[in-house]
Amino acid sequence: MIDVTGTCHCGAISIAALVEDTRMIACHCSDCQQFSGAPFRAVVIAIGDHVQLTGTPREYEKTADSGNIRLQGFCGECGTQLYAADQDKTTFNIRTGWLDQRHELVPKVHIFGSSSPRWLADIADHNWLTAGPGSAPFTPSSDA
Ligand SMILES: [Zn+2]
Ligand SMILES: [Zn+2]
Repeated sequence: MIDVTGTCHCGAISIAALVEDTRMIACHCSDCQQFSGAPFRAVVIAIGDHVQLTGTPREYEKTADSGNIRLQGFCGECGTQLYAADQDKTTFNIRTGWLDQRHELVPKVHIFGSSSPRWLADIADHNWLTAGPGSAPFTPSSDA
């Protein structure tokens, strides 16, 4: 378990949490792709008692095929995706992108691989740059 902190892009919402870093999941399902506008989403699990939020997130209620409702928390100002939770908030799936420790959190499992983009498999071989267009070449490495 590790302590994490984070702030949404506009600063309206912040978090301090104790997360179960052995339970970090990358999800490649089509809902995650659509919600995030990104190829996949990554979450780390925390129990509700270990999550302190400052500010008031907005929550979208997503109803699963099973009828279960999952709250999708986001900042109503800047749109940063914050977490998913059950209605009782006993467990949070915290989106790792807004956590300061996001580089230390490594997915232990990738789920819904069948809907992941095929190009992810060889992403290290793509054309990488250190910063924006025109910047120096960059070689992704796990020791960086
Ligand atoms: Zn915000
Ligand atoms: Zn998903």
